[in-house]
Amino acid sequence: MIKISLPDGSIKEFPKGSTPLDVARSISEGLARNVISAKFNKGVVEVFTPLNEDGSLILYTWNSPEGKKAFWHSSSHILAQALEEMYPGIKLTIGPAIENGFYYDVDFGKHVLSDKDFPAIEKKAIEIARGKHPFNMRPVSKKEALDFYQSQDNEYKVELIENLEDGEITFCDHDSFTDLCRGGHIPNTGFVKAFKIMNVAGAYWRGDENNKQLTRVYGISFPKQKELTEYLELLEEAKKRDHRKLGKELELFTFSKKVGQGLPLWLPKGAALRERLENFLKKAQKKAGYEMVISPHIGQKELYVTSGHYAKYGEDSFQPIHTPKADEEFLLKPMNCPHHCEIYNAKPFSYRELPKRYAEFGTVYRYEQSGELHGLTRVRGFTQDDAHIFCTPEQLHQEFLDVIDLSLYVLGSLGFDDFTAQVSLRDPEKPEKYIGSLENWEKAESAILNAAKEKNLNYVVEEGEAAFYGPKLDFMVKDALGRNWQLGTIQVDYNLPERFELSYKGSDNESHRPVMIHRAPFGSMERFIALLLEHTGGNFPLWLIPDQAIILPVSEKHEKYAEKVLNSLENAEIRALLDMRNETVGKKIREAEMNKIPFMLIVGEKEEEENTISVRKHGGEDLGAISLKDFVNLVEKEINSTLKSF
Ligand SMILES: [Zn+2]
Ligand SMILES: [Zn+2]
Repeated sequence: MIKISLPDGSIKEFPKGSTPLDVARSISEGLARNVISAKFNKGVVEVFTPLNEDGSLILYTWNSPEGKKAFWHSSSHILAQALEEMYPGIKLTIGPAIENGFYYDVDFGKHVLSDKDFPAIEKKAIEIARGKHPFNMRPVSKKEALDFYQSQDNEYKVELIENLEDGEITFCDHDSFTDLCRGGHIPNTGFVKAFKIMNVAGAYWRGDENNKQLTRVYGISFPKQKELTEYLELLEEAKKRDHRKLGKELELFTFSKKVGQGLPLWLPKGAALRERLENFLKKAQKKAGYEMVISPHIGQKELYVTSGHYAKYGEDSFQPIHTPKADEEFLLKPMNCPHHCEIYNAKPFSYRELPKRYAEFGTVYRYEQSGELHGLTRVRGFTQDDAHIFCTPEQLHQEFLDVIDLSLYVLGSLGFDDFTAQVSLRDPEKPEKYIGSLENWEKAESAILNAAKEKNLNYVVEEGEAAFYGPKLDFMVKDALGRNWQLGTIQVDYNLPERFELSYKGSDNESHRPVMIHRAPFGSMERFIALLLEHTGGNFPLWLIPDQAIILPVSEKHEKYAEKVLNSLENAEIRALLDMRNETVGKKIREAEMNKIPFMLIVGEKEEEENTISVRKHGGEDLGAISLKDFVNLVEKEINSTLKSF
């Protein structure tokens, strides 16, 4: 018998040679039907793999990321078989599972694959899937493996095999198809019920542009047709909400080839929106005891050598700026932290004056490859809502609680209600990897864990994920389309205080090192606004949206009254536009809808006589004719319902 321990902590005995499927069956028939992959003692196994020793077993279904990985990895074998049967003589290279689906890189020889070919490939793949062919792993010798692919003239697989050790090479067979593979499959092809080719792209063999360009075929598959339909709908919605598209339509930002790739230019509406966002955070930070500081966009190279950022960013980022003076070198700042350390060093502090909380909307510059750039989410210059807290080790816990409060307030006010936190701790087995005393690490880790517990955060703990210089807590939010984004980080740092020789005088009159906390609830203004655009589809919260209302006079006759309304709204600090164009009200409404303006205020004969406005909400709800005063109250009430006080 062997002892199998399961994730719930239970340990069960099974006859030697039992499979993960047997274990699933012992739990429930339902689980046995749905289990598609498994992990045994840190290694991926098939559900039919006989288990011959004691160990811990995790069973995966489609609903887990690992289950999806096995599903999509297996689907790439199906794709490869379909392609090989349809295009004899092609050369298969590699085909991994990815975040959403899988791809296969193929040398198609002379054939150019296009979307016209997709339906036939999908049909073939589904035919193969219906055969319910089991995936069978088979060890092969290096010679056998090389012979197999040499006979097919496939120099790519030959190259892969040549880099493998004899004795660790496996093939995977299903139906009449064989592939080089390390394993991790669903039980048989029949689990795949829906199959879609998404697109094709060029990809160099091994990512090297000196090598031959291959065709990367992207696909996705699902255990139910309905799930594919839903996925495609979600993609459509994501396309509509793409922040690059919305940012252009709503005139928030632009890019210019002349200015340079990855360097966003904020248009007036976008700049004003960003300023509102900054002021919102500034106000909350002021209440939380932060002080604003300002630092330059460049610093001497030595500053970043001291901080260690030169080692991290120097070679691969913007190169030093030279001056007429020989040996003088400056760098565009990749991080604000070194500057803030020197602000702390400007005068001596006693423990009574701590914590010091320095905040800055600091712009930093990092060189990203042009292929990596993406709208506002991957740029070369961006502004962090940065702050650094310098405190004593005893104050760490309270500071963490306060930063969590601030982050929750910020996320809540912007409509992010679905989030989790990830706490990254040391790998307890490798203490040599980390800087700082064991005692301080223990203090910091328990400070973070206790703060997360006290604030009732929904959090997961990842051992071994901490940076070498300190543990951290990351907020992950789920957006309206169910996608996960990593947002604000709260990071403890023992390294920079050491490197910059920061100190304070303790109650014992001795000099001590403060602990540093880096935190940024938004991360960066650019990325956050991109995320907010996609989360809200451009329908920002009322307090933040560029134009809150638009006045639509029915005809020229009512212009004077319309201007009076505009004036009153401006006095009440409501951001409003006046559409005086000689167009029908119907057309003006349609355009205001497109521009996502929350309130349309229609004024005509009746409204002018009665000193009212007819209010139509974005989306079509008609509030009828109300007085201006009532409208101002309505706006205030709606703002107060989302923008909670801190
Ligand atoms: Zn495989
Ligand atoms: Zn920092």
